Amino acid sequence: AKRMRLDKLLANMGFGTRSEVRRAVKQGRVTVDGLTAKDFGLTIDPESAEVRFDGEEVVYQETIYVMLNKPQGVISATEDTRDRTVIDLLEPVDRVLQPFPVGRLDKDTEGLLLLTNDGKLAHDLLSPRKHVPKTYEALVLGDVGESDQAAFRQGVTLDDGYATMPAELVVGEKEERADGVYSRITLTIHEGKFHQVKRMFEAVDKRVLYLKRISMGPLALDKKLKLGEYRLLTDTELEALL
Ligand code: URA
Repeated sequence: AKRMRLDKLLANMGFGTRSEVRRAVKQGRVTVDGLTAKDFGLTIDPESAEVRFDGEEVVYQETIYVMLNKPQGVISATEDTRDRTVIDLLEPVDRVLQPFPVGRLDKDTEGLLLLTNDGKLAHDLLSPRKHVPKTYEALVLGDVGESDQAAFRQGVTLDDGYATMPAELVVGEKEERADGVYSRITLTIHEGKFHQVKRMFEAVDKRVLYLKRISMGPLALDKKLKLGEYRLLTDTELEALL
């Protein structure tokens, strides 16, 4: 098995910065296989060594899976020169394993975003051949009706000529306002073209005013997460995804 320095293991598992965990080792707060560690540079096999920090077991993990309720105004990227990114919303300990967003939501789109450092899972979820369903809730300017449902079921042609795959449109409440009818809808698509939901409604002469993703494959946005909040996936969620 591959070996790893003790200070790196502790820092990667969120027990503090490199210098904080080194200090903790010097203070005798860390044990390896039942013995107090004296040297923070000790190399260990993180899979088999039993490491404890103040008595608490340090469980070795190489992967991280985060469910974020993305707010508007942040970019689905790891770096941006102008704007805040979704990574900026994570606590430093949750950035150590370098998660990245699986796919993108527009800057003004809210809702479910998965962040992980598991490249295989990201690739599988994004693969155009897998047709992973993604469900969105939207507020649309326009009277969304049966003809739109039929059009989306057939597939519509986007502004660049792309013909979309069949998508399921559910129409909810409507409201009549001075400037027209506003429709609440839920849409499930099985692909992920750039600005797809907005462009599908443009194709039927309507405009998305608000957009939120509520699910991706088996993963549903946790209603307890407020905008900008996140949590790690549960074991059950992870099993459903992998
Ligand atoms: N479709 C869009 O138009 N925007 C998103 O952010 C996601 C899907």
